[in-house]
Amino acid sequence: MTFDELGLNAPLLQAIADLGFEKPSKIQEEAIPQLIAEDRDMVALAQTGTGKTAAFGFPLLQNIDANSKTTQGLIIAPTRELCLQITNEMKLYAKHMKGVRVVAVYGGANIQEQAREISRGAQIVVATPGRMQDMMRRRMVDITKLSYCVLDEADEMLNMGFYEDITNILADTPEDKLTWLFSATMPREVSRIAKEFMVNPLEITVGHKNEGAKNVSHEYFVVHTRDRYQALKRLSDANPDIFSVIFCRTKRDTQKVAEQLIEDGYNAGALHGDLSQNQRDLVMKSFRNRQIQMLVATDVAARGIDVDDITHVVNYQLPDEIETYTHRSGRTGRAGKTGISLVIVTKSEMRKIKQLEKILGKKFEQKTIPDGKEITQVQLMHLANSINTTEINDEIEAYLPEIEEVLKDNTKEELIKKVFSVEFTRFFNYYKKSKDLNQNAVGAAKEQSGDSTRYFINVGSKDDFDWMKLKDFLKEELGLGQDGVYRVDCKDAFSFFNTDTEHKDKIIAHFENFELDGRRVSVEETQGGGGRSGGGGRSGGGDRRRSGGGSSDRQRSDRKSSYGDDQGGRSRSRSERPERPARFERSERSSSPRTPDNRSEGNKSPFSGKRRRRS
Ligand code: ADP
Ligand code: MG
Repeated sequence: MTFDELGLNAPLLQAIADLGFEKPSKIQEEAIPQLIAEDRDMVALAQTGTGKTAAFGFPLLQNIDANSKTTQGLIIAPTRELCLQITNEMKLYAKHMKGVRVVAVYGGANIQEQAREISRGAQIVVATPGRMQDMMRRRMVDITKLSYCVLDEADEMLNMGFYEDITNILADTPEDKLTWLFSATMPREVSRIAKEFMVNPLEITVGHKNEGAKNVSHEYFVVHTRDRYQALKRLSDANPDIFSVIFCRTKRDTQKVAEQLIEDGYNAGALHGDLSQNQRDLVMKSFRNRQIQMLVATDVAARGIDVDDITHVVNYQLPDEIETYTHRSGRTGRAGKTGISLVIVTKSEMRKIKQLEKILGKKFEQKTIPDGKEITQVQLMHLANSINTTEINDEIEAYLPEIEEVLKDNTKEELIKKVFSVEFTRFFNYYKKSKDLNQNAVGAAKEQSGDSTRYFINVGSKDDFDWMKLKDFLKEELGLGQDGVYRVDCKDAFSFFNTDTEHKDKIIAHFENFELDGRRVSVEETQGGGGRSGGGGRSGGGDRRRSGGGSSDRQRSDRKSSYGDDQGGRSRSRSERPERPARFERSERSSSPRTPDNRSEGNKSPFSGKRRRRS
């Protein structure tokens, strides 16, 4: 189906084309024609990330009278972030409609200004429940002529205790307005709203009620409670391009984990209810433009946040409610992309994993926390790949003669070794004495006893693999049975997997001169270099400081930011970036001089000390 066929008018179709939406999502396909044509209430259920905003936004825009300044549509959403997000989307949809004004109304911002915006004529108001009531009390908004009321993320609103607020608002709206309720799940309170405030609503459900996102895979790691944080760091180190939301259960843990990550040199930030609105805005802005790679958040604060391309959701702790898990994992795998939900659990929480599997009808794959040598290999390959794909900046020419003069006595081989040693030494030293964090992980135990071999293969997600596809591919190629290939970890340009050691020779032989779509595929046993034997040594603080940046500085050139204009569209110059070494400073941090950046912000900084250059 196409958008044309849904009955949308020309200005909307033009906006849709501008947005690059090719075809309607399932919920859009079902809801839009009904909402345009029928004067009926609607309850629409679809998982997060399925395009619900447009499903009500397009029909709402089409149905209002743009020539009248009266407020005709009210959208209620649970949080300020969502309110702004919906408003921005609606403005984009209305781009080619003359005279349409969409105004956001939310707490923590100047109420007079919002009232002024409305008095200039706003056909559509997007509001949080609290501020909306404030403005109603002060007669700053008139909703007595409303034709449409949309309750977005209804389950979240009710979760947050907005039942009474919603009923108060609805009480002020005309009897004959239409109510459209959109929700990811259908808990009892949502049915109650539907029963009490809606007339014979049409019900649309896409997928099963309470189902999680389809293209999200679920992986879990069993560790000791005291190793949770270390495990988190390793997972991040093993995924240099990670762009993630990390969920903790309490505001305190959220703040603590974020602070620790920042201290350890990661691009992290905290998002929870104890921060001021201003701080939260800053964090979200930094996250949206990728200056923050790891957003540590509480469930409430992260509700409904729509940031594209989140690669991983990390459950630092499991939530109490299964529905909360569904919401968390719905932050990734949006708009047709794949995503991974990682769960860090202790042995005693294994039964919760079983429950989740049963209720969500999904398999949760047990994985092992990577060890130092694997992380070192990932990081070095990542560096090699990004050097390889870096575009040469012509401006460099002017600086080259002096650089070449300094380096003239090095051969190419020496230069490569030196460049990589910078990174290697950092990881090598950090992980030298690292232990196995895994509790009862099959593959890792076997590997230590020599019964299992780990391999490196030079294909990855760039080649359209994910770990499941790669596992299937390898199983088929190698003729190994169901569990013959395990611990498959798919990275960007390469991957890892294990087999029992008895198959090693066969596997190495199989991939000798092997090609896939004309490309040479090579498989090697992973190198044990990062482990016990000596070397490495003591590169001083000064050295490391300058060499830092490496792993986490890399640009995310392959990711587009959907908020491109928000930050003035400029990339940050190198000098604006603080000097902290990228990572792994923990053991040294007391002796490291404080940079201007962390001195002024202290550890309380809700946003990362490290800036990433935007691409
Ligand atoms: P939901 O409210 O269901 O969680 P959103 O409305 O926030 O989902 O949409 C998620 C993302 O998908 C947004 O970035 C939105 O711009 C995008 N999107 C919506 N509809 C389409 C479509 N038909 N084609 C491509 N992208 C879409
Ligand atoms: Mg939504």
